[in-house]
Amino acid sequence: MSSAAQRYFEQAAKILGMGDREQKMLLTPLREVRVQVAMRMDDGQVATYVGYRIQHDKSRGPMKGGLRFHPEVNSAEVLELASLMTWKTAVVDLPYGGAKGGISVDPKTLSPGELERITRKFIDQIHEVIGPDQDIPAPDMGTNAQVMAWIANQYEKYHGYSPGCVTGKPVEMHGIDGREEATGRGVTIVLQATLARLKRPLKGISVAIQGFGNVGSFAASILHDLGAKVVAVSDVTGGIFNPQGIDVAALQTHLALQGKMSAFPDGQIITNEELLACDAEVLIPAALGGVLTAANAKNVRAKIIIEAANGPTEPEADEIFQQREIIVVPDILANAGGVTVSYFEWVQNRQHFKWELADVREKLAKQLTRAFEDVWTIATEKKVTLRAAAYLLGVGRVARATKLAGIE
Ligand code: NAD
Repeated sequence: MSSAAQRYFEQAAKILGMGDREQKMLLTPLREVRVQVAMRMDDGQVATYVGYRIQHDKSRGPMKGGLRFHPEVNSAEVLELASLMTWKTAVVDLPYGGAKGGISVDPKTLSPGELERITRKFIDQIHEVIGPDQDIPAPDMGTNAQVMAWIANQYEKYHGYSPGCVTGKPVEMHGIDGREEATGRGVTIVLQATLARLKRPLKGISVAIQGFGNVGSFAASILHDLGAKVVAVSDVTGGIFNPQGIDVAALQTHLALQGKMSAFPDGQIITNEELLACDAEVLIPAALGGVLTAANAKNVRAKIIIEAANGPTEPEADEIFQQREIIVVPDILANAGGVTVSYFEWVQNRQHFKWELADVREKLAKQLTRAFEDVWTIATEKKVTLRAAAYLLGVGRVARATKLAGIE
């Protein structure tokens, strides 16, 4: 693995005084599965795709991580994302390890029937290596609650009743209230905690959000309801900017009626690149990884970046942000709301007891705020960035669990 996540890991390992052998053990994935997913398309032709499940580490519990359906899915990316899950579950102190998976496919090119068949075929190929006590998938880019429902149903054909085999399921099918909004809500909780530390009010603060899918749209509407000014949003087609603040609910209605983001009347059309550099105090990348680079980091005007997406900041950009004293709340803390509520869902499934939405939201806020405070304290004491502090916390916890278990 040679990636941004590895560089951040190595920085933390050095501060923790970890030797080469220990580092190698923590970096080497436990198991990498790569499978053929062949299926019949609606027109009768056979199409073949490649699916991945990479299980990075299980020293702190069963492995956990999303499934991504996206044309750019490949083994290097899945491995990096799997390792991020290991550090993320440790930062938030969930009793899990890390994994990730996906299929290299553009789900928008599939009919609903084809999407169901590709999902079921994938589970046929990997059901033996996943499960409630082994590895529990969840939604990520290009997958949703419906896909999770098909996964549960297909898994149960082999293993019998096991609702805890996947999270992010529909509420009607052993899902938990509040899971869909969880990552976006978590992003807003982490922003509130950051502002509280900076003694700045959330009300009136200007925010730009790249990506208006599950994470970006919930973050936008919750921030709007809390009184922040969402001045820019975008999706894959481009974005809009309005310094007076965008009416997020009106935009959602416009998009639900199949309107294009760029056709929304209440704002100026901007590109995704322009969004990253627009005049906003807070920037929330909530789409793809690798969007903040050495080339564009100097143009960013925001003073706070909350990494809702996984891996949005290249290490070179991270250094520029550090020099410019821009606060970056790293992905392994900022977007941990989803896996935290996934954990609640898994606990609910195992308890056979349904949790109330208010309870879910309260426990999510408590868990993330505590993790944020732990990270902030380390950053202050060790005089390092929030990212370095989060890695110190996460990697340190995994290293201790690995050592305690022994390897014989
Ligand atoms: P999604 O598929 O629901 O939405 C993705 C959004 O990004 C869409 O608005 C899409 O139009 C936009 N997008 C896609 N390609 C783009 C491009 N090239 N430029 C600009 N925008 C583009 O996905 P999501 O679940 O909201 O996930 C977004 C990010 O958050 C990903 O990095 C994902 O790994 C991360 N994340 C998601 C969760 C979760 O619970 N869904 C949890 C943790 C992290």
